[in-house]
Amino acid sequence: MDIDTKLDTINFPPLKERILKNGICLEGGILKVDSFINHQIDPNLLKEMSIEIVKRFANSKIDKIITIEASGIAPAIMLAFFLNVNVVFVKKKKPATMDNMLTTTVYSFTKKTNYDVCVSKDFLAKGDNVLFVDDFLANGHAANGIIDLINQAQANLVGMAFLIEKSFQEGGKKLREMGIKVESLAIIDSLDNCEIKFKE
Ligand code: 5GP
Repeated sequence: MDIDTKLDTINFPPLKERILKNGICLEGGILKVDSFINHQIDPNLLKEMSIEIVKRFANSKIDKIITIEASGIAPAIMLAFFLNVNVVFVKKKKPATMDNMLTTTVYSFTKKTNYDVCVSKDFLAKGDNVLFVDDFLANGHAANGIIDLINQAQANLVGMAFLIEKSFQEGGKKLREMGIKVESLAIIDSLDNCEIKFKE
């Protein structure tokens, strides 16, 4: 694979253009990207975005990708393919067959409720160098749940990659203040009046 090491602008141009073309603003600061990320998925865009994340973490040692089901799974698999590592996805329901697991509670931004998530200790282990990937960063609840699980496992958090960050919510600021390397391919400063304004 030919990976150009030059970094692009803050906003990865192919994603920014696609959001402007197909993204839909909903009430309450929600961006709908169902036609290319969250329901129907464009594999070519996913591939380009994954290569961009690989570039942004080119200096990090990554043993494993972690994400939360369901919307993080597609970007996580594509990224893991390029990095040639495994993906583990945190589950939202405890499977009857899973013991030996770590659990935490996450508040859902879209469903406005708390839910318990879990991951097997077999797949998130002491010393693993883990990169978290998700579709959106809003208030950082999902990210905080992942941090808790990684700490419980005594694994190492390499950083966090998001396709879309909404910087008018607090997640990105708080995570960066914690010293975490956070990379977002599109950063949206405002969705006020249903107008999409990117960080420039
Ligand atoms: P957080 O946990 O950072 O508050 O919210 C991130 C999670 O909520 C993501 O995993 C994503 O599924 C969902 N989410 C947050 N904001 C949006 C949004 O504007 N659009 C969509 N489609 N999902 C969002």
